[in-house]
Amino acid sequence: MTDEHYKWMRKAVDLAAQSISEQGRVDPPPAVAAVIVKNGTEVASAFRGQCAAGNHAEKCAIESAGGKDLVGAVVYTTLEPCSRRNAPKIACAQRLIDQGVGTVYIGLYDPNPKIFREGWKMLRDAGISLRDFPTDLRNELREMNAAFLSQYRSNGNAIGSATFDYVHSPIFTIGEPSVAIDTKWSHGASGVIHAYAEAGHIALARYAESLDEIDDPSAMDFNLDKQSVTANDGNIIIFRGPRENVYAIVKVEQVLSLDRGDDRNEVTFTYEIRTINVKGPLDEFLE
Ligand SMILES: [Zn+2]
Repeated sequence: MTDEHYKWMRKAVDLAAQSISEQGRVDPPPAVAAVIVKNGTEVASAFRGQCAAGNHAEKCAIESAGGKDLVGAVVYTTLEPCSRRNAPKIACAQRLIDQGVGTVYIGLYDPNPKIFREGWKMLRDAGISLRDFPTDLRNELREMNAAFLSQYRSNGNAIGSATFDYVHSPIFTIGEPSVAIDTKWSHGASGVIHAYAEAGHIALARYAESLDEIDDPSAMDFNLDKQSVTANDGNIIIFRGPRENVYAIVKVEQVLSLDRGDDRNEVTFTYEIRTINVKGPLDEFLE
């Protein structure tokens, strides 16, 4: 790593701290900045929200480059460029590809399991060279983005807990990206909560009181007619993941509900991701 590259990454980290977020957002937005360099000279730089509230840093930086030729440019961005946005918005990874940039240095990968490494893959598939920021700068970014990262704190853990506002952010994804299981929640009357999954992917572990009482989660009744269960404090719900044989065992620890007199709508659950070994015909034969 040459000092030259480090200098631009250092600048991007410092700029990220100036990020401006949208008004009224419930979830903590990330602090992000991007610096675009061509032939050793800075062409443009921007932090999140610099050109307009909520605008992504890469988009702002490209705009402030004012149409200059960015072919072969080096981009230093503190967060993995986003891979998808709702139309008509264009994902930053696509914008960088469209500009023909040559190399992208990435600070943090997006902790959202739906985006994690997707931006990297888009750029890689477009033939762009990819490098990571060094550890010291990445740690600074982690600290600066602690609230943003903690939304996805369950990432990579097979066992964990989550607390979130089920009215404003009804989906919570647990497990690392390769086994990610989406749990979806909604408010029920007087303190109960509804949990949702695709038909046949959710079941209530009736009478169970702790996660370790569940021997084989696949033994529960995953009725194809059922897409939701109703639960409250102490209930255990089994979510069957999109990947074969991966289950999330979720214990609802506490439901807070405004309509029951609590000061917020919030659910806390503990969970365990469990992979079931299924013996195929060959395994049985070999025994
Ligand atoms: Zn973006």
